[in-house]
Amino acid sequence: NVAVVLYTSDLRLHDHPPLRAALSSCDRVVPLFVRDRAVEAAPGFDAPNRRAFLADCLADLDSGLRERGGRLVVRSGDAVAEVAALVRETDADEVHMSAGVSAYAHAREERLRRALEAEGRRLYVHDAVITAVAPGAVRPAGSDHFSVFTPYFRRWTDLPLRPVTAAPRALHVPDAIGSEPLPARTAVSGVSPGLAAGGEVEARRLLANWLRSGITRYEDVHDDLAGDATSRLSPHLHFGTLSPTEAVHRARAAGGPGAEAFVRQLCWRDFHHQVLAARPGAAAEDYRTRQDHWRTGPAAEEETAAWKEGRTGYPVVDAAMRQLRHEGWMHNRGRLIAASFLAKTLYVDWRTGARHFLDLLVDGDLANNQLNWQWVAGTGTDTRPNRVLNPVRQALRYDPEGRYVHRWVPELAGLAAPRVHEPWRLEGAERARYDYPGPVVELADGRDRFRQGREGS
Ligand code: FAD
Repeated sequence: NVAVVLYTSDLRLHDHPPLRAALSSCDRVVPLFVRDRAVEAAPGFDAPNRRAFLADCLADLDSGLRERGGRLVVRSGDAVAEVAALVRETDADEVHMSAGVSAYAHAREERLRRALEAEGRRLYVHDAVITAVAPGAVRPAGSDHFSVFTPYFRRWTDLPLRPVTAAPRALHVPDAIGSEPLPARTAVSGVSPGLAAGGEVEARRLLANWLRSGITRYEDVHDDLAGDATSRLSPHLHFGTLSPTEAVHRARAAGGPGAEAFVRQLCWRDFHHQVLAARPGAAAEDYRTRQDHWRTGPAAEEETAAWKEGRTGYPVVDAAMRQLRHEGWMHNRGRLIAASFLAKTLYVDWRTGARHFLDLLVDGDLANNQLNWQWVAGTGTDTRPNRVLNPVRQALRYDPEGRYVHRWVPELAGLAAPRVHEPWRLEGAERARYDYPGPVVELADGRDRFRQGREGS
């Protein structure tokens, strides 16, 4: 008998419960990826960096399957219609897939379940594949999700994780099943020049290196902007070329304070996913209504354009925004500083910034991006919603030698720290030597606008 495995955000062979389950109940398995038209058409989804990375992931998955005697079938259209058609073509008895988190993913699962049941076939939806702990697996008394991280982290830590499952050694795909060609990375235009490579092989190489040589120092150096001492695993976790369950197990096995700090960040990922699963509207609406009076109009638009282009006149903000454009990735500390600058100092609606991030981030993820933006904007789960990050103080603390700014804002490469973080303080001829804009806004004015806006004046 035949099973179809529908791949979504889980593009791997290792630790893949749907594939495992399909192989244990059926002798032939069809691994399927549907280029879902609805997903591709949704605003903020179809970004060149993620499209290019996805092409790498699919090519790598196909080659891993071929090494085991199988291959990846690619179709495009409506996911439910495509799965139903393939089930009919192959006379498959069952379909396996990972549980999604977004409202769209839930609705798609339901539609698929109904379509299959109408034809006497079964859909198996597997939990804890896309996250280490399934959304809803831990809940506080009287609520469907945790809205504060620390109590969630405590419960999450106590929960036993399922064991990691091995990649299959062999699989058999029925003959004569049509597939579209795999999308090619080279066909995508507008890709960031420094974009990382995708695929499970690359994910496993990065993880192994990270566990061998990066993780031990993580606790001490993860916030150092220039040190770039984080795992860079986020796009792999987003596309599922790396299993979060496996990452947690292996980090815990490595042990030590660095590993603990890293596992805590992986828990943040699950935390945001369980918020979004319970409150799908939080992808677009304020999680907590703060009655903000966000700035709009020509001045706000001009400042937002300067922010997007990395010419706000605040070197650390500009460095972060240029890293985003060049690599399709940004250091977490940079994300915090840049997002706070837009949402608090410029006092522009977080949705504008979140959309720009989604357009460029290779790890751009509805749960992590929207809910981190809300956290920074003070409309989300931060317990101190009115804190404003001062970009100069942040720069002095997290880029004390100015190396991050020098790397991404070469106009200022000749200016040493700490002065590089406040070039507007230079005078006369010295100031004129640097072709770099003045600040788009004074920090004190920004603070006032934020306070007044939030007080609902
Ligand atoms: P590491 O420091 O090595 O952390 C390991 C993993 O933990 C990451 O890969 C990620 O999966 C998870 N993680 C770390 N920090 C967070 C966090 N704050 N929230 C949720 N998960 C976290 N992360 C995304 O994956 N996609 C996004 O679209 C995204 N948008 C963000 C937007 C803003 C405004 C902010 C402040 C943060 C955002 N993050 C997002 C979280 C975080 O910045 C990135 O996950 C991290 O920088 C990725 O680099 P890394 O893999 O080297 O992280």
